[in-house]
Amino acid sequence: MEVQAKLRILADAAKYDASCASSGSKRERPAGGVGNTTGIGICHSYTPDGRCVSLLKLLLTNYCIYDCTYCVNRISSDTPRARFTPQEVVSLTIEFYKRNYIEGLFLSSGIIQNVDYTMEQLIEVARTLREEHGFGGYIHLKVAPGASEELIAEAGKWADRLSANIELPQQADLDKLAPAKTHAEIEDTMTDIRTGILTAKDKTTRAGRRPQFAPAGQSTQMIVGATEAPDAAILTKASTLYKGYQLRRVYYSAFSPIPHADPRLPLQSAPLVRENRLYQADWLLRFYGFQVQELTTPESPNLPLDKDPKLAWALRHRAFFPVDVNQASQAALLRVPGLGVRNVQRILRIRRYHTLRLEDLRRLKVPVERAKFFVITADHHPAGLEWESRKVEKKVKPASEQLLLFDAAQSATNGEL
Ligand code: SF4
Repeated sequence: MEVQAKLRILADAAKYDASCASSGSKRERPAGGVGNTTGIGICHSYTPDGRCVSLLKLLLTNYCIYDCTYCVNRISSDTPRARFTPQEVVSLTIEFYKRNYIEGLFLSSGIIQNVDYTMEQLIEVARTLREEHGFGGYIHLKVAPGASEELIAEAGKWADRLSANIELPQQADLDKLAPAKTHAEIEDTMTDIRTGILTAKDKTTRAGRRPQFAPAGQSTQMIVGATEAPDAAILTKASTLYKGYQLRRVYYSAFSPIPHADPRLPLQSAPLVRENRLYQADWLLRFYGFQVQELTTPESPNLPLDKDPKLAWALRHRAFFPVDVNQASQAALLRVPGLGVRNVQRILRIRRYHTLRLEDLRRLKVPVERAKFFVITADHHPAGLEWESRKVEKKVKPASEQLLLFDAAQSATNGEL
């Protein structure tokens, strides 16, 4: 098969993996080599299906010995198959890089023969790029769960980021839809990656060099909406993974129906707004001090789709507000809808020498029309006024708008919640 035809099949097959954002790595161009990840080396741009295009995103092959029902590449699928040789992927990466089409490589694969053989093939690509072509661009390698420790150690030597997909939030869902996979095995693989990262960091500190093992860390992906697992279960799993394996990111990928799908799978895609709300909630867990059990309730285990999770929490906890921006703690300020992490830091700095008024918040580009219901400033106290009004929810909830088709992750990361 022509390389072009393989590329069509294997780039298309890779689009279902969302875990390819390329931030977090600093790799300078090797002497006489090509590519780097510093400065403007890597930027995030998104294709209409929401995936990065700054990376050449490929599967080595879409043959797979496994039969995960939600996957178009499962062994029982009748999708057209193709397979690159490692050398073909190396040549494509170098050619595309030189033409300025891409800034790096995201490489995954179906499982060929067995897990370790597959990993050897992926590593061969990364090693050849680095060693033989002096490639300094970004490389993200997917790690097949169950790969041997030695191969994970080898992969981490060449890749900027490694990721093993957790796939579904609950073991019971895996048992049903991907019986060859277990959370225990996937998390063992994450442990090996984490160990490699920590060991390299330790050596780096002592030797004063940059980390030699996956300097952009590890990430994972969870499919949303393939089962009935609610957002509470998804966020609980994500939170456990962040704590246990020091993941840089959990990516949430809305399930999209596949041809000739198993009847246990939904016929419709999960709404992209759900993916977006999960990214917002994820942000609140990592940077705003929220706990999973605060974002959903036993009665409503899914995040509301019509408002962001921080606003939803504020509306359920009206007694917490208003918060005095001139006196409240950092933790309390971070709970205010419309106050993002950066603005909270600015407020804490400014109020040491200046008493903040509503106008000051406007100057900081705080969305005051929204935040004013939740804050006290020197010239503003909402108690007894708007806050008492039963119409407050209507006033602060953003107007309905056309949803973005393809940048859930990006909009969540840019947003000041
Ligand atoms: S192992 Fe990966 S490629 Fe193979 S069927 Fe499962 S999800 Fe698809």
